[in-house]
Amino acid sequence: MSSSIDNCPRVGNGYDVHALKEGLPMRLCGVDIPSAKGFVAHSDGDVAIHALCDALLGAAALGDIGLHFPDSDPRFKGIDSKELLAHVVRLVTDEGRPSYDIVNADITIALQEPKLRPHIDTMRQTLAEVMNIDKGRVSVKATTTERLGFVGRGEGCEVWATVMIAPRNVNQY
Ligand code: MG
Repeated sequence: MSSSIDNCPRVGNGYDVHALKEGLPMRLCGVDIPSAKGFVAHSDGDVAIHALCDALLGAAALGDIGLHFPDSDPRFKGIDSKELLAHVVRLVTDEGRPSYDIVNADITIALQEPKLRPHIDTMRQTLAEVMNIDKGRVSVKATTTERLGFVGRGEGCEVWATVMIAPRNVNQY
């Protein structure tokens, strides 16, 4: 039984922060970024993918990343966050009832340095491949915070993600 509102697209938002430390690797949107500092984290610290996962889970009302991948679980230590994203995509697009298509994703990364511009295209391509959607549906934007706050002091990185999903084959349920 479905009503017309069940056919409507749904939005989700996600937010994450990771601390930066000298000498650790930096990976964002699945791309390794040359940088003097990297992320302190249980996983590979890909704060952008974590925000994206939360946006997808939020759009489908399936909880949050901490529910699905607790950082107390040794299976997730050092894990490539692309694997977490692939799992979340399966939950949202294959296994859920209803299941959804991903319409688009828009990500904003706040980081003081290094400049991310040279990596944006590869980031979009990488995320599009993991989500099985066209690169044109994936936006990645980067900003500094004009040296203000913890981001501006180079102490951390902050990411916001927004996604839209659309129910698939609603009539069959
Ligand atoms: Mg995280």
